[in-house]
Amino acid sequence: MSVVAVSHPESHPNHNLPSLYPLFADLRGRRVLVIGAGPVAARKIAPLLDAGARVAVVAQALGEQVSSWLAAGRLDHQGRQFSPDQLDAAWLVIAATDDSALNAQVRAEADARRVFCNVVDQAALCSFQVPAVIERGPIRVAVSSGGAAPVLARQIRERLESLLDDTLGPLAELMARWKSRVRARLPEIPIRRRFLESLADGEVGRLLRQGRAAQADAALAQALDQAQTRPPGRVSLVGAGPGDPGLVTLKALRRLQEADVILHDQLVDAAILKLARRDAEFIEVGKRGGGKCTRQETINALLLRHARAGLRVVRLKGGDPFVFGRGGEELAFLRWHGVACEVVPGITAALACGAYAGIPLTHRDHAQSLRLVTAHCRDSLDTLDWRALAEERQTLAIYMAVGRLDTLRAKLIEYGRAPDTPFAIIENGSRPDQRVVVGRLDTLAESARVHAVQSPALVVIGEVAALAESLHWFGAPPIRGLPVRLALAAA
Ligand code: SAH
Repeated sequence: MSVVAVSHPESHPNHNLPSLYPLFADLRGRRVLVIGAGPVAARKIAPLLDAGARVAVVAQALGEQVSSWLAAGRLDHQGRQFSPDQLDAAWLVIAATDDSALNAQVRAEADARRVFCNVVDQAALCSFQVPAVIERGPIRVAVSSGGAAPVLARQIRERLESLLDDTLGPLAELMARWKSRVRARLPEIPIRRRFLESLADGEVGRLLRQGRAAQADAALAQALDQAQTRPPGRVSLVGAGPGDPGLVTLKALRRLQEADVILHDQLVDAAILKLARRDAEFIEVGKRGGGKCTRQETINALLLRHARAGLRVVRLKGGDPFVFGRGGEELAFLRWHGVACEVVPGITAALACGAYAGIPLTHRDHAQSLRLVTAHCRDSLDTLDWRALAEERQTLAIYMAVGRLDTLRAKLIEYGRAPDTPFAIIENGSRPDQRVVVGRLDTLAESARVHAVQSPALVVIGEVAALAESLHWFGAPPIRGLPVRLALAAA
Protein backbone atom coordinates (compact mmCIF):
# COMPACT_ATOMS: atom_id res chain seq x y z
CA MET A 1 0.00 0.00 0.00
CA SER A 2 1.35 3.36 -0.85
CA VAL A 3 2.61 5.44 2.00
CA VAL A 4 4.38 8.73 2.24
CA ALA A 5 6.94 9.83 4.75
CA VAL A 6 7.83 13.47 4.96
CA SER A 7 10.79 14.60 6.96
CA HIS A 8 10.97 18.29 7.59
CA PRO A 9 13.16 20.22 7.54
CA GLU A 10 15.91 18.38 5.71
CA SER A 11 18.73 17.66 8.00
CA HIS A 12 21.31 20.38 7.91
CA PRO A 13 24.95 19.82 8.72
CA ASN A 14 25.01 22.82 11.08
CA HIS A 15 22.25 21.45 13.26
CA ASN A 16 23.82 18.08 13.82
CA LEU A 17 20.49 16.43 13.07
CA PRO A 18 20.37 12.89 11.79
CA SER A 19 18.99 12.33 8.33
CA LEU A 20 16.40 9.73 9.35
CA TYR A 21 15.50 6.77 7.22
CA PRO A 22 11.70 6.41 7.11
CA LEU A 23 10.50 2.92 7.91
CA PHE A 24 7.10 1.31 8.46
CA ALA A 25 7.58 -1.68 10.72
CA ASP A 26 5.42 -4.81 10.96
CA LEU A 27 5.21 -5.37 14.72
CA ARG A 28 2.54 -8.08 14.76
CA GLY A 29 3.41 -10.60 17.46
CA ARG A 30 6.74 -8.89 18.12
CA ARG A 31 7.80 -7.91 21.58
CA VAL A 32 8.23 -4.25 22.40
CA LEU A 33 9.59 -3.31 25.80
CA VAL A 34 8.27 -0.13 27.40
CA ILE A 35 9.99 1.31 30.47
CA GLY A 36 7.48 3.41 32.38
CA ALA A 37 3.71 3.07 32.75
CA GLY A 38 2.37 6.57 33.28
CA PRO A 39 0.23 8.62 30.89
CA VAL A 40 3.22 9.35 28.60
CA ALA A 41 3.98 5.66 28.29
CA ALA A 42 0.30 4.97 27.64
CA ARG A 43 0.31 7.41 24.72
CA LYS A 44 3.18 5.45 23.19
CA ILE A 45 1.66 2.05 23.95
CA ALA A 46 -1.72 2.67 22.28
CA PRO A 47 -0.43 2.68 18.68
CA LEU A 48 1.83 -0.28 19.45
CA LEU A 49 -1.20 -2.30 20.55
CA ASP A 50 -3.06 -1.16 17.41
CA ALA A 51 -0.15 -2.47 15.36
CA GLY A 52 -0.43 -5.85 17.06
CA ALA A 53 2.82 -5.65 19.05
CA ARG A 54 3.28 -7.73 22.23
CA VAL A 55 3.95 -4.99 24.73
CA ALA A 56 5.88 -5.73 27.93
CA VAL A 57 5.97 -2.99 30.55
CA VAL A 58 8.62 -2.39 33.19
CA ALA A 59 7.58 0.03 35.95
CA GLN A 60 7.25 0.44 39.69
CA ALA A 61 3.67 1.61 39.50
CA LEU A 62 1.18 1.30 36.69
CA GLY A 63 -0.98 4.23 35.63
CA GLU A 64 -4.70 3.90 35.15
CA GLN A 65 -4.67 3.20 31.41
CA VAL A 66 -1.82 0.72 31.55
CA SER A 67 -3.50 -1.08 34.47
CA SER A 68 -6.69 -1.50 32.48
CA TRP A 69 -4.77 -2.91 29.49
CA LEU A 70 -3.03 -5.30 31.86
CA ALA A 71 -6.37 -6.36 33.37
CA ALA A 72 -7.71 -6.94 29.83
CA GLY A 73 -4.71 -9.15 29.07
CA ARG A 74 -3.48 -6.83 26.33
CA LEU A 75 0.05 -6.43 27.73
CA ASP A 76 2.47 -7.95 30.26
CA HIS A 77 4.02 -6.42 33.32
CA GLN A 78 7.54 -7.71 33.07
CA GLY A 79 9.00 -6.30 36.23
CA ARG A 80 9.42 -3.32 38.53
CA GLN A 81 13.08 -2.63 37.73
CA PHE A 82 14.79 -2.36 34.37
CA SER A 83 17.44 -4.95 33.76
CA PRO A 84 19.32 -5.34 30.49
CA ASP A 85 18.29 -8.96 29.93
CA GLN A 86 14.70 -7.76 29.48
CA LEU A 87 15.88 -6.47 26.11
CA ASP A 88 16.86 -9.89 24.87
CA ALA A 89 13.54 -10.81 23.31
CA ALA A 90 12.61 -7.26 22.27
CA TRP A 91 12.54 -5.77 18.77
CA LEU A 92 12.12 -2.22 20.02
CA VAL A 93 12.33 -0.46 23.34
CA ILE A 94 10.68 2.75 24.48
CA ALA A 95 11.96 4.58 27.54
CA ALA A 96 9.15 6.72 28.93
CA THR A 97 10.38 7.59 32.41
CA ASP A 98 11.29 10.94 33.95
CA ASP A 99 14.59 9.53 35.20
CA SER A 100 17.12 10.74 32.65
CA ALA A 101 19.94 8.54 33.96
CA LEU A 102 17.70 5.49 33.54
CA ASN A 103 16.66 6.61 30.05
CA ALA A 104 20.31 6.95 29.07
CA GLN A 105 21.11 3.52 30.51
CA VAL A 106 18.26 1.93 28.55
CA ARG A 107 19.57 3.50 25.35
CA ALA A 108 23.12 2.27 26.02
CA GLU A 109 22.00 -1.28 26.81
CA ALA A 110 19.70 -1.28 23.77
CA ASP A 111 22.56 -0.21 21.50
CA ALA A 112 24.72 -3.02 22.87
CA ARG A 113 21.99 -5.48 21.76
CA ARG A 114 21.13 -3.69 18.51
CA VAL A 115 17.61 -2.99 19.68
CA PHE A 116 16.19 0.29 18.41
CA CYS A 117 15.39 2.66 21.24
CA ASN A 118 13.05 5.63 21.56
CA VAL A 119 13.42 7.93 24.53
CA VAL A 120 10.26 9.99 24.76
CA ASP A 121 10.78 13.68 24.03
CA GLN A 122 14.57 13.33 23.93
CA ALA A 123 15.42 13.22 20.26
CA ALA A 124 19.13 13.15 20.96
CA LEU A 125 18.78 9.87 22.87
CA CYS A 126 16.62 8.14 20.25
CA SER A 127 17.86 5.60 17.76
CA PHE A 128 14.37 5.63 16.26
CA GLN A 129 11.73 8.31 16.33
CA VAL A 130 7.99 8.08 16.07
CA PRO A 131 6.48 10.37 13.44
CA ALA A 132 3.16 12.21 13.53
CA VAL A 133 0.74 10.01 11.60
CA ILE A 134 -2.34 10.59 9.49
CA GLU A 135 -4.40 7.46 8.93
CA ARG A 136 -6.99 6.65 6.31
CA GLY A 137 -7.65 2.94 6.50
CA PRO A 138 -4.46 1.19 5.49
CA ILE A 139 -2.98 4.47 4.21
CA ARG A 140 -0.53 6.08 6.60
CA VAL A 141 1.15 9.40 6.07
CA ALA A 142 3.99 9.93 8.50
CA VAL A 143 5.51 13.34 9.15
CA SER A 144 8.76 13.80 10.98
CA SER A 145 11.01 16.75 11.66
CA GLY A 146 13.80 14.47 12.82
CA GLY A 147 13.39 16.04 16.25
CA ALA A 148 14.16 19.54 14.94
CA ALA A 149 10.67 20.98 15.17
CA PRO A 150 8.00 18.56 16.40
CA VAL A 151 5.50 21.42 16.57
CA LEU A 152 5.94 22.08 12.87
CA ALA A 153 5.55 18.37 12.10
CA ARG A 154 2.27 18.37 14.03
CA GLN A 155 1.07 21.46 12.16
CA ILE A 156 1.84 19.78 8.86
CA ARG A 157 -0.06 16.74 10.08
CA GLU A 158 -3.10 18.89 10.85
CA ARG A 159 -2.97 20.46 7.42
CA LEU A 160 -2.75 17.06 5.76
CA GLU A 161 -5.63 15.78 7.89
CA SER A 162 -7.90 18.34 6.29
CA LEU A 163 -6.52 17.65 2.80
CA LEU A 164 -6.93 13.89 2.65
CA ASP A 165 -10.59 13.08 2.39
CA ASP A 166 -12.27 10.21 4.18
CA THR A 167 -12.73 8.10 1.07
CA LEU A 168 -9.03 7.29 0.98
CA GLY A 169 -9.47 4.49 3.50
CA PRO A 170 -12.39 2.77 1.71
CA LEU A 171 -10.62 3.29 -1.62
CA ALA A 172 -7.47 1.62 -0.32
CA GLU A 173 -9.52 -1.28 1.01
CA LEU A 174 -11.34 -1.59 -2.30
CA MET A 175 -8.02 -1.69 -4.15
CA ALA A 176 -6.68 -4.31 -1.77
CA ARG A 177 -9.73 -6.51 -2.42
CA TRP A 178 -9.36 -6.16 -6.19
CA LYS A 179 -5.60 -6.35 -6.24
CA SER A 180 -5.12 -9.84 -7.66
CA ARG A 181 -7.94 -9.48 -10.21
CA VAL A 182 -6.52 -6.16 -11.43
CA ARG A 183 -3.07 -7.67 -11.65
CA ALA A 184 -4.31 -10.63 -13.66
CA ARG A 185 -6.28 -8.45 -16.07
CA LEU A 186 -3.55 -5.77 -16.50
CA PRO A 187 -0.21 -7.52 -16.11
CA GLU A 188 1.91 -4.61 -17.35
CA ILE A 189 2.91 -2.36 -14.47
CA PRO A 190 2.63 1.10 -16.08
CA ILE A 191 -0.76 0.26 -17.51
CA ARG A 192 -2.01 -1.19 -14.24
CA ARG A 193 -0.71 1.82 -12.35
CA ARG A 194 -2.53 4.16 -14.69
CA PHE A 195 -5.76 2.22 -14.22
CA LEU A 196 -5.44 2.35 -10.43
CA GLU A 197 -4.57 6.04 -10.51
CA SER A 198 -7.69 6.80 -12.51
CA LEU A 199 -9.94 5.35 -9.79
CA ALA A 200 -9.68 8.12 -7.17
CA ASP A 201 -10.74 10.90 -9.54
CA GLY A 202 -13.19 8.84 -11.56
CA GLU A 203 -16.57 7.20 -11.03
CA VAL A 204 -15.28 4.87 -8.31
CA GLY A 205 -13.98 7.75 -6.17
CA ARG A 206 -17.18 9.75 -6.76
CA LEU A 207 -19.37 6.87 -5.57
CA LEU A 208 -17.20 6.29 -2.52
CA ARG A 209 -17.47 9.95 -1.60
CA GLN A 210 -21.25 9.52 -1.68
CA GLY A 211 -20.91 6.53 0.62
CA ARG A 212 -22.15 4.11 -2.07
CA ALA A 213 -19.63 1.32 -1.56
CA ALA A 214 -21.50 -1.41 -3.44
CA GLN A 215 -21.96 0.78 -6.52
CA ALA A 216 -18.28 1.75 -6.35
CA ASP A 217 -17.42 -1.93 -6.40
CA ALA A 218 -19.58 -2.47 -9.46
CA ALA A 219 -18.08 0.59 -11.18
CA LEU A 220 -14.62 -0.80 -10.59
CA ALA A 221 -15.64 -4.15 -12.05
CA GLN A 222 -16.99 -2.43 -15.14
CA ALA A 223 -13.95 -0.16 -15.55
CA LEU A 224 -11.63 -3.14 -15.26
CA ASP A 225 -13.64 -5.03 -17.81
CA GLN A 226 -13.34 -2.14 -20.27
CA ALA A 227 -9.72 -1.26 -19.51
CA GLN A 228 -7.42 -1.47 -22.47
CA THR A 229 -4.49 -3.74 -21.90
CA ARG A 230 -2.43 -1.56 -24.18
CA PRO A 231 -3.62 2.04 -24.16
CA PRO A 232 -1.84 4.35 -26.56
CA GLY A 233 1.08 6.31 -25.16
CA ARG A 234 1.17 10.07 -25.03
CA VAL A 235 3.86 12.72 -25.21
CA SER A 236 3.55 15.97 -23.28
CA LEU A 237 5.93 18.74 -24.32
CA VAL A 238 6.25 20.51 -21.02
CA GLY A 239 7.84 23.84 -20.17
CA ALA A 240 9.71 23.71 -16.86
CA GLY A 241 10.16 27.48 -16.57
CA PRO A 242 13.49 29.16 -15.88
CA GLY A 243 14.61 27.39 -12.71
CA ASP A 244 12.56 28.48 -9.70
CA PRO A 245 10.38 25.42 -8.97
CA GLY A 246 7.61 27.81 -7.89
CA LEU A 247 7.26 28.83 -11.53
CA VAL A 248 6.26 25.35 -12.70
CA THR A 249 2.59 25.38 -13.70
CA LEU A 250 0.08 23.11 -11.97
CA LYS A 251 -0.46 21.24 -15.20
CA ALA A 252 3.26 20.67 -15.68
CA LEU A 253 3.44 19.38 -12.11
CA ARG A 254 0.60 16.94 -12.77
CA ARG A 255 2.29 15.66 -15.92
CA LEU A 256 5.59 15.24 -14.07
CA GLN A 257 3.88 13.23 -11.38
CA GLU A 258 2.13 10.95 -13.85
CA ALA A 259 5.08 10.39 -16.15
CA ASP A 260 6.60 7.00 -16.91
CA VAL A 261 9.52 8.54 -18.78
CA ILE A 262 10.95 12.04 -18.60
CA LEU A 263 13.34 13.30 -21.26
CA HIS A 264 14.80 16.51 -19.94
CA ASP A 265 17.25 19.15 -21.01
CA GLN A 266 20.30 19.59 -18.86
CA LEU A 267 19.17 23.16 -18.31
CA VAL A 268 16.24 21.92 -16.21
CA ASP A 269 16.95 22.48 -12.54
CA ALA A 270 17.45 19.49 -10.23
CA ALA A 271 14.88 21.00 -7.85
CA ILE A 272 12.26 20.66 -10.60
CA LEU A 273 13.18 17.09 -11.42
CA LYS A 274 12.64 16.34 -7.73
CA LEU A 275 8.97 17.22 -8.17
CA ALA A 276 8.54 14.38 -10.64
CA ARG A 277 7.43 10.84 -9.95
CA ARG A 278 10.30 9.14 -8.17
CA ASP A 279 10.25 5.96 -10.19
CA ALA A 280 9.86 7.57 -13.58
CA GLU A 281 12.75 6.87 -15.91
CA PHE A 282 14.83 10.05 -16.33
CA ILE A 283 16.75 10.54 -19.54
CA GLU A 284 18.98 13.58 -19.90
CA VAL A 285 19.19 14.90 -23.42
CA GLY A 286 20.81 18.01 -24.80
CA LYS A 287 23.47 20.16 -23.29
CA ARG A 288 23.72 23.51 -21.60
CA GLY A 289 24.22 26.68 -23.65
CA GLY A 290 25.50 26.02 -27.13
CA GLY A 291 27.58 22.90 -26.38
CA LYS A 292 27.28 19.66 -28.28
CA CYS A 293 23.72 18.33 -28.07
CA THR A 294 22.02 15.00 -28.21
CA ARG A 295 20.97 14.97 -31.86
CA GLN A 296 17.39 15.96 -32.46
CA GLU A 297 16.84 12.74 -34.41
CA THR A 298 17.92 10.75 -31.37
CA ILE A 299 15.52 12.66 -29.14
CA ASN A 300 12.69 12.19 -31.62
CA ALA A 301 13.38 8.47 -31.84
CA LEU A 302 13.35 8.14 -28.04
CA LEU A 303 10.06 10.01 -27.79
CA LEU A 304 8.50 7.80 -30.44
CA ARG A 305 9.78 4.54 -29.00
CA HIS A 306 8.50 5.23 -25.49
CA ALA A 307 5.14 6.57 -26.67
CA ARG A 308 4.66 3.49 -28.83
CA ALA A 309 5.37 1.30 -25.82
CA GLY A 310 2.20 2.77 -24.30
CA LEU A 311 4.02 5.03 -21.82
CA ARG A 312 3.30 8.53 -20.65
CA VAL A 313 6.26 10.51 -21.84
CA VAL A 314 7.18 14.01 -20.71
CA ARG A 315 9.57 16.00 -22.83
CA LEU A 316 10.69 18.57 -20.29
CA LYS A 317 12.33 21.73 -21.55
CA GLY A 318 13.71 24.81 -19.88
CA GLY A 319 11.41 27.84 -20.09
CA ASP A 320 8.70 27.36 -22.70
CA PRO A 321 8.86 24.53 -25.25
CA PHE A 322 7.85 26.81 -28.11
CA VAL A 323 10.32 29.60 -27.45
CA PHE A 324 13.72 28.66 -28.89
CA GLY A 325 13.08 25.15 -27.66
CA ARG A 326 12.56 23.14 -30.86
CA GLY A 327 9.20 22.10 -29.43
CA GLY A 328 7.60 22.82 -32.79
CA GLU A 329 9.84 20.33 -34.55
CA GLU A 330 9.14 17.64 -31.97
CA LEU A 331 5.41 18.22 -32.14
CA ALA A 332 5.45 18.03 -35.96
CA PHE A 333 7.47 14.81 -35.86
CA LEU A 334 5.18 13.14 -33.32
CA ARG A 335 2.00 14.26 -35.07
CA TRP A 336 3.35 12.93 -38.35
CA HIS A 337 3.84 9.56 -36.67
CA GLY A 338 0.33 9.62 -35.22
CA VAL A 339 1.36 9.92 -31.56
CA ALA A 340 -1.05 11.69 -29.19
CA CYS A 341 0.58 14.93 -28.02
CA GLU A 342 -0.05 18.01 -25.99
CA VAL A 343 1.93 21.13 -25.17
CA VAL A 344 2.13 22.54 -21.64
CA PRO A 345 3.56 26.04 -21.84
CA GLY A 346 6.15 27.26 -19.39
CA ILE A 347 7.44 30.63 -18.27
CA THR A 348 10.03 31.63 -20.79
CA ALA A 349 13.37 33.10 -19.71
CA ALA A 350 12.48 36.61 -20.93
CA LEU A 351 9.41 36.81 -18.71
CA ALA A 352 11.11 35.27 -15.69
CA CYS A 353 14.32 37.27 -16.01
CA GLY A 354 12.40 40.50 -16.51
CA ALA A 355 10.30 39.83 -13.42
CA TYR A 356 13.12 38.62 -11.19
CA ALA A 357 15.46 41.44 -12.19
CA GLY A 358 12.85 44.17 -11.71
CA ILE A 359 12.75 44.97 -15.44
CA PRO A 360 9.24 45.51 -16.82
CA LEU A 361 9.65 44.40 -20.42
CA THR A 362 7.16 46.94 -21.70
CA HIS A 363 6.57 50.32 -20.16
CA ARG A 364 4.33 53.20 -21.12
CA ASP A 365 7.21 55.67 -21.07
CA HIS A 366 9.98 53.54 -22.56
CA ALA A 367 9.00 50.52 -24.63
CA GLN A 368 5.87 49.69 -26.59
CA SER A 369 7.06 46.37 -27.94
CA LEU A 370 9.17 43.40 -27.03
CA ARG A 371 11.17 41.17 -29.32
CA LEU A 372 12.44 37.73 -28.40
CA VAL A 373 15.63 37.14 -30.34
CA THR A 374 18.15 34.35 -30.50
CA ALA A 375 21.82 34.96 -31.11
CA HIS A 376 22.57 31.26 -31.13
CA CYS A 377 24.96 31.07 -34.06
CA ARG A 378 26.63 33.19 -36.69
CA ASP A 379 24.02 32.22 -39.28
CA SER A 380 21.13 33.35 -37.15
CA LEU A 381 22.92 36.66 -36.48
CA ASP A 382 23.35 37.22 -40.22
CA THR A 383 19.69 36.69 -40.95
CA LEU A 384 18.43 39.11 -38.32
CA ASP A 385 16.76 42.34 -39.40
CA TRP A 386 19.18 44.67 -37.64
CA ARG A 387 17.43 47.80 -38.81
CA ALA A 388 14.27 46.70 -37.04
CA LEU A 389 16.17 45.49 -33.97
CA ALA A 390 17.94 48.83 -33.60
CA GLU A 391 14.70 50.79 -33.43
CA GLU A 392 14.06 52.81 -30.30
CA ARG A 393 11.24 52.41 -27.77
CA GLN A 394 11.37 48.65 -27.86
CA THR A 395 12.91 45.96 -25.67
CA LEU A 396 15.11 43.18 -27.02
CA ALA A 397 15.28 39.97 -25.00
CA ILE A 398 18.17 38.05 -26.47
CA TYR A 399 18.59 34.32 -25.79
CA MET A 400 21.83 32.34 -26.10
CA ALA A 401 23.83 35.50 -26.57
CA VAL A 402 26.76 35.08 -24.19
CA GLY A 403 29.34 34.28 -26.87
CA ARG A 404 28.09 36.89 -29.36
CA LEU A 405 28.02 40.12 -27.44
CA ASP A 406 30.68 41.89 -29.56
CA THR A 407 28.76 41.32 -32.76
CA LEU A 408 25.46 42.21 -31.12
CA ARG A 409 26.70 45.53 -29.84
CA ALA A 410 28.49 46.42 -33.08
CA LYS A 411 25.46 45.64 -35.25
CA LEU A 412 22.94 47.48 -33.07
CA ILE A 413 25.09 50.61 -32.92
CA GLU A 414 25.90 50.40 -36.64
CA TYR A 415 22.16 50.34 -37.41
CA GLY A 416 21.45 53.33 -35.21
CA ARG A 417 20.75 52.25 -31.62
CA ALA A 418 22.25 54.88 -29.25
CA PRO A 419 25.54 53.75 -27.64
CA ASP A 420 24.18 54.73 -24.23
CA THR A 421 21.09 52.50 -24.49
CA PRO A 422 20.85 50.55 -21.21
CA PHE A 423 21.42 46.80 -21.10
CA ALA A 424 20.98 44.16 -18.39
CA ILE A 425 22.40 40.67 -18.48
CA ILE A 426 20.52 38.26 -16.23
CA GLU A 427 22.51 35.13 -15.44
CA ASN A 428 20.70 32.17 -13.82
CA GLY A 429 17.49 34.18 -13.69
CA SER A 430 15.05 33.21 -10.89
CA ARG A 431 17.58 30.85 -9.32
CA PRO A 432 19.27 31.40 -5.96
CA ASP A 433 22.51 32.29 -7.75
CA GLN A 434 20.94 34.90 -10.04
CA ARG A 435 23.30 37.74 -11.07
CA VAL A 436 22.38 40.84 -12.95
CA VAL A 437 24.96 43.02 -14.71
CA VAL A 438 23.83 46.43 -15.99
CA GLY A 439 25.46 49.12 -18.10
CA ARG A 440 25.27 50.90 -21.45
CA LEU A 441 25.26 49.19 -24.82
CA ASP A 442 28.74 50.32 -25.90
CA THR A 443 30.24 48.50 -22.88
CA LEU A 444 28.15 45.31 -23.24
CA ALA A 445 30.83 42.82 -24.24
CA GLU A 446 33.56 44.06 -21.90
CA SER A 447 31.14 44.27 -18.96
CA ALA A 448 30.13 40.65 -19.47
CA ARG A 449 33.75 39.56 -19.77
CA VAL A 450 34.94 41.42 -16.71
CA HIS A 451 32.19 39.79 -14.61
CA ALA A 452 32.70 36.42 -16.30
CA VAL A 453 29.02 36.05 -17.26
CA GLN A 454 28.13 32.44 -18.02
CA SER A 455 25.30 30.70 -19.78
CA PRO A 456 22.38 30.51 -19.14
CA ALA A 457 22.02 34.24 -19.37
CA LEU A 458 19.51 36.52 -21.02
CA VAL A 459 20.46 39.90 -22.45
CA VAL A 460 17.90 42.68 -22.23
CA ILE A 461 18.55 45.78 -24.31
CA GLY A 462 16.39 48.87 -24.13
CA GLU A 463 15.48 51.77 -21.88
CA VAL A 464 13.64 49.48 -19.46
CA ALA A 465 16.89 47.68 -18.55
CA ALA A 466 17.93 50.73 -16.51
CA LEU A 467 14.98 50.14 -14.15
CA ALA A 468 16.76 47.11 -12.67
CA GLU A 469 18.81 49.48 -10.52
CA SER A 470 15.77 50.92 -8.77
CA LEU A 471 13.24 48.05 -9.02
CA HIS A 472 15.35 44.99 -8.24
CA TRP A 473 13.85 42.91 -5.44
CA PHE A 474 15.28 39.39 -5.81
CA GLY A 475 18.76 38.21 -4.90
CA ALA A 476 21.78 40.49 -5.02
CA PRO A 477 21.44 44.04 -6.38
CA PRO A 478 22.58 44.53 -9.98
CA ILE A 479 26.32 44.84 -10.58
CA ARG A 480 27.47 47.86 -12.58
CA GLY A 481 29.30 46.96 -15.80
CA LEU A 482 32.49 48.66 -16.88
CA PRO A 483 32.54 52.47 -17.16
CA VAL A 484 32.78 53.62 -20.79
CA ARG A 485 36.35 54.83 -20.45
CA LEU A 486 37.61 51.44 -19.24
CA ALA A 487 35.42 49.53 -21.71
CA LEU A 488 36.84 51.48 -24.63
CA ALA A 489 40.35 50.87 -23.35
CA ALA A 490 39.59 47.14 -23.05
CA ALA A 491 37.96 46.89 -26.49
N1 SAH B 1 12.90 27.45 -24.14
C1 SAH B 1 13.71 28.29 -23.30
C2 SAH B 1 14.91 28.85 -24.03
C3 SAH B 1 15.90 27.82 -24.44
S1 SAH B 1 17.32 28.50 -25.18
C4 SAH B 1 12.85 29.40 -22.71
O1 SAH B 1 11.70 29.57 -23.12
O2 SAH B 1 13.33 30.10 -21.82
C5 SAH B 1 18.42 28.63 -23.81
C6 SAH B 1 18.63 30.08 -23.46
O3 SAH B 1 17.54 30.54 -22.65
C7 SAH B 1 19.84 30.34 -22.62
O4 SAH B 1 21.01 30.43 -23.42
C8 SAH B 1 19.49 31.68 -21.99
O5 SAH B 1 19.68 32.73 -22.91
C9 SAH B 1 18.01 31.52 -21.77
N2 SAH B 1 17.71 31.06 -20.40
C10 SAH B 1 17.08 29.94 -20.04
N3 SAH B 1 16.96 29.86 -18.70
C11 SAH B 1 17.53 30.98 -18.21
C12 SAH B 1 17.71 31.50 -16.90
N4 SAH B 1 17.30 30.86 -15.81
N5 SAH B 1 18.33 32.70 -16.77
C13 SAH B 1 18.76 33.37 -17.84
N6 SAH B 1 18.62 32.93 -19.10
C14 SAH B 1 18.00 31.75 -19.29
